[in-house]
Amino acid sequence: AVLPDAAALRADFPILGERVNGERLVYLDSGATSQKPQAVIDAEVDFLTRANSAVHRGAHTLAAEATELFEDARTTVAGFVGAPAEQLVWTSGATAGLNLVAYAIGNASVGRGAPQSARFALRAGDEIVVTESEHHANLIPWQELAARTGAVLRHIPVHDDGTLDMDAAAAVIGERTRVVAFTHVSNVLGIVNPVDELVALARGVGAVTVLDACQSAPHLPLDLPALGVDLAVFSGHKMLGPYGIGGLYGRADVLEALPPFLTGGSMITTVTLDEASYLPPPQRFEAGTQPVSQAIGLAAAVRYLDGVGMDAVHAHEKALEARMGAGLRSIPGIRLLGDASTGSATGGGGSATGQRAERVGLWAFDVEGVHAHDVGQFLDARGVAVRVGHHCAQPLHRRFGLTASVRASTALYNTADDVDVFLDALSGVRTFFGAAS
Ligand code: PMP
Repeated sequence: AVLPDAAALRADFPILGERVNGERLVYLDSGATSQKPQAVIDAEVDFLTRANSAVHRGAHTLAAEATELFEDARTTVAGFVGAPAEQLVWTSGATAGLNLVAYAIGNASVGRGAPQSARFALRAGDEIVVTESEHHANLIPWQELAARTGAVLRHIPVHDDGTLDMDAAAAVIGERTRVVAFTHVSNVLGIVNPVDELVALARGVGAVTVLDACQSAPHLPLDLPALGVDLAVFSGHKMLGPYGIGGLYGRADVLEALPPFLTGGSMITTVTLDEASYLPPPQRFEAGTQPVSQAIGLAAAVRYLDGVGMDAVHAHEKALEARMGAGLRSIPGIRLLGDASTGSATGGGGSATGQRAERVGLWAFDVEGVHAHDVGQFLDARGVAVRVGHHCAQPLHRRFGLTASVRASTALYNTADDVDVFLDALSGVRTFFGAAS
């Protein structure tokens, strides 16, 4: 599977025609946020121009039209991850989705929700398991939940090559584990984690699985029911969609049993001054006015991705990743985070298999003798946009002995030429800063 026509595809993204510092924009920061095709921009503008209205209420024509567009968007986006519409909850983003889950479990822990909510209740000494490579969004909500319930937060470490230590996972996930929350693809390592093995370990002890699919949804064919996870989140703005929209997928029985987090309008059936009863999922988790135009924009984004085909997107980005990885390994003084060759070179801590893991188009690296921020500015002067810093993954950086790194990440609209411009610019950075030996 290859992309139909990369040049034509790039023309769909108006921003890619911009010049930065007099240079052609080489956008390698899609891991932070993706660019948007005209179809997504148009979908939001069209809705706001022609159909804007409050959904799920009001008897007028526009309200009915807006509701239909909004619910069609749910069906489209749910279908993109292999799920029926009623198993997709809108959130404002992945961070909001993960907090929703953690707070809902917290509510179950204090006895809120239907009788079957008790299956999520955490007691002091119960365990929540995450990985060492989590984005802070899939770490801090669990730290907070542990603090509120007396649960213990444990983690699965990563090897030097960035792969998860699955022997440790088998030891860490045990009788007391109630939640296993992990990323599908790390936003720093770019490695695809073995979801099936982690799900099997979690299921074996009756723990709930929560998948962070932010960095897989834009890059791989994704079938969340087939992956077998209980809950999963993804982020609209990283998958060609608008800001302020994301999805929380849940297995039907899990969503059914989970108490709500945010409460208020639009999620109730009957309310008295003393108490309220709640709608079934997904509405139970959608209190208040929803991001309607953003949902419609996200539906346009996944239609665009489906139009290209996620197999083709993945194959295209794999080729870019291989080209970038090979180029980076050949530049002296560059250390890649999460690389099989790095794992074997540094020895102790080791490599899981010695084989290259399945990856998306993303590499984070350290440049010996040059601060990541200086690398970022040097590249920016040459039109190349990358991300620098800890990428909201401080524990992982600490594990690799770093406080910051440079990250180049691709999307379907990047080309081999983008990668070459980036590598060519980067090859001069250590000399420029007097760091080349
Ligand atoms: N998890 C991962 C792996 C991410 O890369 C990000 C975005 N940097 C998030 C969670 C947070 O997503 P959002 O911006 O939708 O809150």
